[in-house]
Amino acid sequence: AAKAQGKNRAQFFSEEINRKIRNDLQIEAGLRQAIKDPGSGLYVAYQPQVCATTREIVGVEALIRWRQDDGKSVSPGEFIPVAEKTGLIIEIGAWLVGRICRDLAHMRQSGIELPKIAINVSPKEMTRGTAIVGNACLTLTGFGESVERFQFEITENALIDENASDVLKAFHDAGFTLAIDDFGTGYSSLGYLKRFRVSTLKIDQQFVQSLPGDNEDATIVSAVIQMAQALGITVVAEGVETEAQAAFLTEHGCDILQGYHVGRPMPVHELVTFIHGQHTT
Ligand code: C2E
Ligand code: MG
Ligand code: MG
Ligand code: MG
Repeated sequence: AAKAQGKNRAQFFSEEINRKIRNDLQIEAGLRQAIKDPGSGLYVAYQPQVCATTREIVGVEALIRWRQDDGKSVSPGEFIPVAEKTGLIIEIGAWLVGRICRDLAHMRQSGIELPKIAINVSPKEMTRGTAIVGNACLTLTGFGESVERFQFEITENALIDENASDVLKAFHDAGFTLAIDDFGTGYSSLGYLKRFRVSTLKIDQQFVQSLPGDNEDATIVSAVIQMAQALGITVVAEGVETEAQAAFLTEHGCDILQGYHVGRPMPVHELVTFIHGQHTT
């Protein structure tokens, strides 16, 4: 009986794996199509970041979105890993910067100049070396955008790559600022804060979630803020969902808040409305 059970289990796993492979192949084919077709379902959502004390918008994070032809949305948590595995992330990364420039031109027509636009870089993009920096510069200057207000977000795990230090230096030398995304969840040492000129730390939402009640998270968050302050690094809190969290973070010296409490990620036309609404109320 044990043998039969083992066989069943193996069969179950292989079906699971088959399903996963089929699903990934579908995602890959869909993404390839979507990158080629400019009117396709890939777009960028912008999530506001506000100054903790004044609650004025100080920037946005660009978050990729994909609505398939059948109207269903696939989350980046699902398709980014596939894009990384297949190398498509390189093309997506290039597409992203161009898309953002077009959106910025649209905002400009509505009288909006964002002080900062943060763009996620995946670890796989780092492994290709400094080409990503050159390509981003070319696209931005092609659209007449200056590089200073663009920030690239990198996770700690991406810093382990042997190319990381060259790539970070190239970003810095080109005039971009750097943020460490999901701070506190990776495996690298804190030494990079000194080595690379990191301008911003983003405290991962897992530490923000149970503020202010959870004593351990409260201790971690306030210690991170103190450390960053001492090093002259800006702190962004991610995943701020309640006013109680916002108040705790502000009291403890966090510079910037990001999360549903402040604003959801939204398409460019909604962001325009959001910003205009903020200034008139
Ligand atoms: P991330 O860069 O850490 O982005 C923050 C994620 O938290 C986003 O999920 C955002 O929608 C979500 N979020 C924001 N505020 C709240 C909140 O108050 N509560 C909760 N529960 N969640 C909140 P999203 O858009 O699904 O993106 C997931 C991840 O996918 C991102 O994590 C990033 O690592 C990756 N990603 C997204 N867009 C891109 C992109 O354009 N390029 C690359 N390479 N990766 C991207
Ligand atoms: Mg991010
Ligand atoms: Mg994050
Ligand atoms: Mg994340």
